[in-house]
Amino acid sequence: MKRLISLPFFVIIINIFTAYHIGAQTKLSIKTVSDLDELIKKMTIVEKIGQMTQINISKINTSGAQKDVVLDEKKYREVLQKYKIGSFLNGEAVSPEVWESYLDKVTRIGLEESRLGIPIIYGIDHIHGASYVANSTLFPHNISLASSFNTQLAFETGLVTAIESADLGHHWIFAPVLDVARTPLWARFYETYGEDPYTVSMMGEAFVKGIQENSETSPYKQAATAKHFLGYSDPKSGWDRTPVDLSMQSIHEIYRPSFQKAIDAGIKSIMVNSGEINGIPVHASKEILTDLLRNQMGFEGVILTDWGDLDKLVDYHKVAENFKEAVFLSIEAGIDMSMTPTHFRFNDALLELVNEGRISEARLDESVRRILKLKLDLGLFENPYPRKDRLNKIGSEKHNKMALNAARESIVLLKNDEMLPLKSSGKLVLVGKSVRDKKNWQGGWTYTWQGAKNEHLAHLSSFDAEMKKAFPSTEIIIYDEITSKNITKFEKDAKSADAIIVVAGEEPYTEFVGNINDLNLDEKQKFWIKSAIETGKPVSLILVEGRPRLFTEFNNKLKSVIYAGLPGSMGPQACAEILAGTVNPSAKLSFTYPAYPNHYIPYNHKSGAVYFFDLNQANFIQQKVKSTNLYSFGHGLSYSKFTYSKLTISNLDNSLEADITVNVSVKNTGNRSGKEAVLFFISDEVGSITRPVKELKHFEKIELEAGESKDLSFVIKPKLHLAFPNANGEYFLEKGKFTVLVDTLKKRFTLK
Ligand code: BGC
Repeated sequence: MKRLISLPFFVIIINIFTAYHIGAQTKLSIKTVSDLDELIKKMTIVEKIGQMTQINISKINTSGAQKDVVLDEKKYREVLQKYKIGSFLNGEAVSPEVWESYLDKVTRIGLEESRLGIPIIYGIDHIHGASYVANSTLFPHNISLASSFNTQLAFETGLVTAIESADLGHHWIFAPVLDVARTPLWARFYETYGEDPYTVSMMGEAFVKGIQENSETSPYKQAATAKHFLGYSDPKSGWDRTPVDLSMQSIHEIYRPSFQKAIDAGIKSIMVNSGEINGIPVHASKEILTDLLRNQMGFEGVILTDWGDLDKLVDYHKVAENFKEAVFLSIEAGIDMSMTPTHFRFNDALLELVNEGRISEARLDESVRRILKLKLDLGLFENPYPRKDRLNKIGSEKHNKMALNAARESIVLLKNDEMLPLKSSGKLVLVGKSVRDKKNWQGGWTYTWQGAKNEHLAHLSSFDAEMKKAFPSTEIIIYDEITSKNITKFEKDAKSADAIIVVAGEEPYTEFVGNINDLNLDEKQKFWIKSAIETGKPVSLILVEGRPRLFTEFNNKLKSVIYAGLPGSMGPQACAEILAGTVNPSAKLSFTYPAYPNHYIPYNHKSGAVYFFDLNQANFIQQKVKSTNLYSFGHGLSYSKFTYSKLTISNLDNSLEADITVNVSVKNTGNRSGKEAVLFFISDEVGSITRPVKELKHFEKIELEAGESKDLSFVIKPKLHLAFPNANGEYFLEKGKFTVLVDTLKKRFTLK
């Protein structure tokens, strides 16, 4: 510890104390970017390439399995000595204490036994809370969180994720997913904030701020990662990582804005889409990674590959003959760090490429500077070590309350034929695996990659337990499933019940493991719903799932339908409270729930989404779209009634420059207090590039007592809200007529 030797004795004592309690400085004194330049000058090529490499912890663990999080010091030292690796990733939900001592050791050996003492940076998939830490607080997955239309909840998800992981040495969070969901079959649908670019942008920005602008984790800071750049979410086949063909115009209009917003909010890293767009795998696309992301969008942070994606350029996309050529292509395209993650061929190949003069050392320096700048910005040169004196914050009551609020505002009441709130003091029959099963409510990326095992969730409450609390004087009968064997008994129980609640949906999955070829709910679950309806009792369907699984043929016969989505650790409680009416639902769908497996039209479709002959049938498109969508984006009911009135526009004839103010009044005309997401849409009536029929441009979540009303306003800035991009990503504004739509109200204005 070079730095300590020159300091007075008492400072040494304080520093020794610090070293073992809240961290210790590295042997380097790096405070500014110019210090980094000096450091880079001292680095060998191998050291530079080591900084550009991220390795899975399975390579340095005793068992070779990431779930063990037990360091094999010998393996680790070999990796450090030979390859000078600067970053590691992954793990599973071990206890905070295990994480802290593991990363303390990894950091200490890395600092003390390397020539330069550059701190490592550790990356982890904390996707809905610190989800790779045992007993951490789990928030709703993004598809549900976005349905709250409350950006504060996305901010709090980021905030709590940071508080529950920063002390453990988790510096680099691989979230948020900023892909826009346009293919309901896709297994990562639930990781997105839905189908609307504006909602994705706003929720994403709030999450990034929660992670990156969080004084509660001081002295630690964390980096968020916007992923997966770009166009990952619209695979033609619906399966994960399969080819995407998109026009550059839609890339700029639909898929870019959420990433742009995150960049403008200061996001520190971006992870690349593993797939191909328009015939070029993104990892090999200079057009996407350098021309677009760096030059046009102005991103200055670290570009990280996704898992093993340079191998995929050879084995899967077949754009490179061998691994060395794949490395060449991706470095030329613009990546900074390779999540290699289970071999060292990247290091060997890149060294050869530099020695052969095909990649310049100056090119390495560009990436190394960005990576070291990230380490500097996060304070790793000052505070590289984790700490264990604040671990009681993990899974705290306060955080669970925040997750509960998030769940309460994320669960969407889709249909209610005067069934809910449920009045029952007699008997309720609950049907479905997710009645008792806790893991299904949490989805993938929960304590392990493919989701939790029920034993990870002993600390959580199940839906049946929450129903017993919510309906204390009701007898609750549970059927995990209905089969030909128990149907007679079920029918007998149903006869004396007030209502039947079927909980259907999915089990956890993510990525290709969740590929399916039919959006319909499976036949077994359809049989439960059918059998419940046939009893003649009122039936409520609760959907616990990450994408819209179809139940269209039953929709008319169900008395109520709830999209619970993947609502996180407090989801079962929130859902039971909504059924009982102690919580008033306030969520609205962040995506369109299709009626049919082979047809999906997002709300912001082009008018040409429906082709027809008689151009005079004004409502034809709307009716057609309605008939193909079961529930549209933005649909969600409440136990209150909100009445909209007085939609006004400050000026009906406007110049291209002046701001335009929209006002609307919302009144709670129901008999109980409630929250309402107020959505402002704009429709551009004529455009030189076909325009979406309407686009969400602003939303606010408000709370109103019964009888209370509130006036809301939204300022339209024409260049920001009315301009649209061409295929080169250049925005332009066109004169013409526009309509503002809020709830069922409409008002037209002109730009001259
Ligand atoms: C996923 C990423 C994730 C990474 C690291 C990949 O398979 O696509 O979203 O961050 O693994 O675990």
